[in-house]
Amino acid sequence: MKTLLPFLALYRRHWFRLTLGIVLAIVTILSSIGLLTLSGWFLAASALAGLAEILTFNYMLPAAGVRGSAIIRTAGRYAERLVSHDATFRVLSHLRTFTFQKLMPLSPGGITRFRQAELLNRLVADVETLDHLYLRLISPLVSAIVVIIVVTFGLSWLDSTLALTLGAIMLLLLLTIPAVFYRAGKPIGADLTALRSDYRGQLTLWLQGQAELAIFGALSSFRRQLDLIELRWLERQKQQAALSGASQALMILASGLTFILMLWLAAAGVGDNPQPAAFIALFVFISLAAFEALAPVAGAFQHLGQVIASAERVNQLIEQQPQVTFPTQKVAVLPEAALSINDISFTYDEQPFPVIKNLSLQIANGEHIALLGRTGCGKSTLLQLITRAWDPQQGNITLNDQLITSYDETTLRNMMVVVTQRVHIFSATLRDNLLLAAPQASDDELASVLNQVGLSALLVQNGLNTWIGEGGRQISGGEQRRIGLARALLHKAPLILLDEPTEGLDADTENQILNLLKQHCQHKTVVLITHRLSGLDNMDKIYVMDAGEILEQGTHQELLTLQGQYYRFYQQ
Ligand code: ATP
Ligand code: MG
Repeated sequence: MKTLLPFLALYRRHWFRLTLGIVLAIVTILSSIGLLTLSGWFLAASALAGLAEILTFNYMLPAAGVRGSAIIRTAGRYAERLVSHDATFRVLSHLRTFTFQKLMPLSPGGITRFRQAELLNRLVADVETLDHLYLRLISPLVSAIVVIIVVTFGLSWLDSTLALTLGAIMLLLLLTIPAVFYRAGKPIGADLTALRSDYRGQLTLWLQGQAELAIFGALSSFRRQLDLIELRWLERQKQQAALSGASQALMILASGLTFILMLWLAAAGVGDNPQPAAFIALFVFISLAAFEALAPVAGAFQHLGQVIASAERVNQLIEQQPQVTFPTQKVAVLPEAALSINDISFTYDEQPFPVIKNLSLQIANGEHIALLGRTGCGKSTLLQLITRAWDPQQGNITLNDQLITSYDETTLRNMMVVVTQRVHIFSATLRDNLLLAAPQASDDELASVLNQVGLSALLVQNGLNTWIGEGGRQISGGEQRRIGLARALLHKAPLILLDEPTEGLDADTENQILNLLKQHCQHKTVVLITHRLSGLDNMDKIYVMDAGEILEQGTHQELLTLQGQYYRFYQQ
């Protein structure tokens, strides 16, 4: 139950609508009871009155009552659905933004633990399951309790023994049935939640990996795993449906038995009246109608297991503490960038060895440096430490003599621009893909930057409205990289971090891009990660990295004379 507390706390904000929904539900059930009871009693009383008494029998008032209850019941049900669903949707949308807000700062450290499909499932399906909490659980439970109290009190005016008997039976059912069905439904609910997530995760993998799976002939074996999960999921759904059926059957049985009991008890006399006549009908019908309030309760508790499982999964997400937090105090953006990396070490979570070891680097404002090293030596990691995707466990990094940890996030992002090793292209228009780097840029600026990076061909058909990425024109690896560069050119920041920007480009384009960068970055500080040696003679300094450490440093000429690692790279 403790798992549900944070979600119940979210309800506070919408308490008015939620309470109104419950009140309307109670009014609807009570008018439904009134309708059935009054009409039952009325028909029986009219029949018993017979022709002789028809002139003295007041049929106007009960008839009006019946009509009134019928109208209230219809209008009440409509309003209740409207209000309670509206309230639930509001709670849900609040819950979604709440979860998403908690999720954002976790990136990337906290999020990489979950697979993408898993994350999406928690954010969408699990959050949605939480709407059962109010609609199927709290609202029916509260309504049932109020209805039992009202019915018992109302009937005790006529006959307290009968009223208490009916009240006690209903209360007993309300206390026992939910407990029984909660226990029976809990393991099924937990499994259903897990299987739903597994199925979606596996399905997403299957869809995303189609090309690879087809090439290696693994489609059918992968498909079998998917089918297996689906089978288990269906099995559990069947069990839940059976349990649902059982709970309903039990309620109908209990209702029938109570009906007979009330008939028998009322026939023996109601209150002081040994020949209760039409009152028998009243008691019988009220016992029938009152069960309407109990019917949803058993089913509700059967779903509680599923709700709790989903709540736990959402909690796991939102309870994570971000590994990196930014101060809120604004720092001014400066037009210069001097970077100083002081004796930093960094180990990824759950990895045995450090990726960066006691590394120090000083980069003056306006300096252009290159970082060279074997694959996996920690170059991209170092770049990510500068952008604060992670923080080093030891040592510190300063930008213009201020710790990067003292910059607020917006300022830090405005101080540096990154072309990452894997440029992400959004399934959106070309314009949108560029504007994210410079929201204010005009179409002319965008087109001119695309020209500079040699992507004007993309503009031919639909101009900046060309749809690219997943759902649009698929673009090549080299084009992807050049869009990353175009973004970097648009984002005016004094520090430029480039992770292998010319990887996958032919020699001509590479030269052209390097020249462009040199020209664009004249007064900027540049860190260029590369595998290749072309253009390095233009750099102010070159650092050769190996296994998380700086092995050699100097200009192109100095390093060649040193005849070390750089020299060997060069020879190759
Ligand atoms: P490349 O030239 O191939 O891009 P790199 O020098 O950029 O290599 P990094 O990406 O920094 O190398 O990775 C350094 C090491 O850290 C690698 O062994 C890699 O497996 C590991 N690594 C990278 N990212 C993570 C991560 N998120 N969690 C755990 N280990 C990681
Ligand atoms: Mg890398």
